[in-house]
Parts: sequence; C-alpha cells; structure tokens
Amino acid sequence: MKKLMAANWKMYKTWAEAESTARELVGLAADKLPADREVLVFPPFTALKAVGDAFAPVDGFSAGGQDFYTEEEGAFTGEISPKMLADAGASYGLTGHSERRHVLGESDELVGRKTAYGLEKGLKVILCVGEKIEERKGGKVEEVLERQIRAGLRDVPVGVEPDRISVAYEPVWAIGTGEVAGPAEIQQAHGFTRKILVSIYGEKANEMRILYGGSVKPGNCAEIIALDNVDGVLVGGASLLSESFSQIVLA
Ligand code: PGA
Repeated sequence: MKKLMAANWKMYKTWAEAESTARELVGLAADKLPADREVLVFPPFTALKAVGDAFAPVDGFSAGGQDFYTEEEGAFTGEISPKMLADAGASYGLTGHSERRHVLGESDELVGRKTAYGLEKGLKVILCVGEKIEERKGGKVEEVLERQIRAGLRDVPVGVEPDRISVAYEPVWAIGTGEVAGPAEIQQAHGFTRKILVSIYGEKANEMRILYGGSVKPGNCAEIIALDNVDGVLVGGASLLSESFSQIVLA
C-alpha cells in the first residue's frame, strides 16, 4: 500500500498562486518521490484545473476536490458535482472535514451520503473524522470515531475497492493549532479505526489507508508516517508552501 501524502489548501490561493505552487512542487519532489508514495493536492475549486494540468504528466501526483454535492447537476446554487470535479482533473474527493462539519454544519448523515455518492461516481474518497477537545477530555474519542466512521461509510457497498476509500483521523484540537497529537494518541486512534474498518469490510480493510492530519510539519512527519496504521498524512498549513510540503512528501 502506497503512503498518501495529501495537501489541503482550504480557502487559500488564487488560480495563479495554486498553479505556481503545484509546478514548484513537481520540480522539488517528482524526481525524488519514492515508489511507495503518492502526492495529492486539494486546491480550491477555482484552481483545480490548473493543478490537475500541472500534475497530469507526472506519475504519482493527483488533484482532488475539497467537497462535492450528491447530485450530478441541477438547481443547487453554490454546489459542485463529482462529475464536474473529475472534468476539472480531480481523481479524489474529501468528505467530512472538520471545518465542513463544525463551521459549515454538515451532519454525519450528509457526510455519509456524500462519501457513498462520490465513490459511486468514480472518485476516490477520503473521509475525515476526529474528536473535539472536550470529547477527548470526556473520554469519548472511540465513541466519536465509531459514530463518524460508521455513519460516513453507511451507504458504501462492502464490495468497494479498498484503495478507493481512505479515512483521515484529524483530531479537531490539532487542526491548525500547532498542537500535534502524540504518537500514543495517533496509534490508539488509528488502531481503533482499523478495527472498525475490519468489522465492516473484513480482511480487505487492511488495504484501506488511514491518514493522520493535524499540525503535520516537515519536522514531525517522518515520525508520524512511521507509526503502525499510519498510511499517509493530510496537511493544511504546512502544505501551502512548496518547500515545506515537498519536505513532508519526501520525509
Ligand atoms: P493543519 O490542517 O495541517 O493546518 O493542522 C490539517 C487539515 O485541516 O486537514
């Protein structure tokens, strides 16, 4: 299973900024990319085509959409469909990111519908899950993860190809705070996530990737990526500069 080194650019970068960062990243990392790693960038929608075009000729580099709706087209102002993402060069889609859950108010139920719909329409999907600080302090980490994972995957058929679905564990308190989860916390959450995936999908769950996200940086990535059940990272802030993200990709 290849490690997936993913960048979430959130609501940052104009078209031109995204294109130049993507091209710099290719220049810094494409030649040195180990055969067992993949690079993925989630730019804002307006820059997806530019990043997709920059990555298209490069092995191991892909682009994805940060969100999508559960219809192909229609009167859904402001929304975008998996078909449109694919047309702009995306092979991946993200669901359940903590900012979509906690800032934009997405429910477990909607996240589940999006995850299943994106897969059905041919995207590879990364389902994000993670507890808030008060849930961790209240001893509810496993309860929250189990609820979010089961709801997120509720309508995903058991026959899904395991390389098309990943789960990203992103503790909300570690996102954008500089406070990375410790190795023991990551291992515990990832081991528990694997257990839930095995309970749903059986042995093939061992071929599904579980990513860690939350204040990943060049200085802590090597240690995180070496942990059991960590099959990649999802990086926000430290992915915005090509120098910093290329160090993470190659860590
Ligand atoms: P961060 O964001 O790396 O800035 O903590 C991670 C994410 O939101 O995916």
